[in-house]
Amino acid sequence: MIKASELKAEHAAFRETVPAGEYFLKVVKAGETVRILDLEGNQAADTLFYSAADPGERYSAMDTIREQGNVYLTAGSVLMSNLCRPMLEVVADTCGRHDTLGGACAAESNTVRYALDTRCMHSCRDSWLLAVAENEAFGMSKRDITHNINFFMNVPITPEGGLSFADGISGPGKYVEMIAYMDTLVLISNCPQLNNPCSGFNPTPLEVAVWER
Ligand SMILES: [Zn+2]
Repeated sequence: MIKASELKAEHAAFRETVPAGEYFLKVVKAGETVRILDLEGNQAADTLFYSAADPGERYSAMDTIREQGNVYLTAGSVLMSNLCRPMLEVVADTCGRHDTLGGACAAESNTVRYALDTRCMHSCRDSWLLAVAENEAFGMSKRDITHNINFFMNVPITPEGGLSFADGISGPGKYVEMIAYMDTLVLISNCPQLNNPCSGFNPTPLEVAVWER
């Protein structure tokens, strides 16, 4: 579902460009709105959400998919935690579909999907592991890196029930915007993947913006 936002960029309390291959980590407070903007198009924002009060409570694909009865995310989707509490709601979306199932790129999946010699290429999992290692104050570790949302990524389910990684459906300037229902730690890997058509084989920057309530 395509739904544009009323919020103006010049009124944002925070704006940051996230280069391809970098991570983004920030607490978004309850009532604030966060926007992820695909600056150049066809980029994947591999994203994890945690309760800032207790990172043991985190975004849960299972609870989210079950509660909304749909594997894709768009405007109106409520992102549920593993305690089945609403964390954020997608309030605007100009892309129209975001993936919950494809997972993040990692050394292991690179070798399975592409070739053995892609094993050492930079992956989203590497970026998340670096983020938790460089930000000890949040008390997170490798065990907190769990299943994620791929904003802007197109992973259609085939009639046989398989997954196919298709060409991106996002474009320059498309965005997804969420209001937080709890103080939420947002951890994004701006995907460095060079082997996937989802990012057009050319990873590009994202922008993250936050509006206060
Ligand atoms: Zn990735």
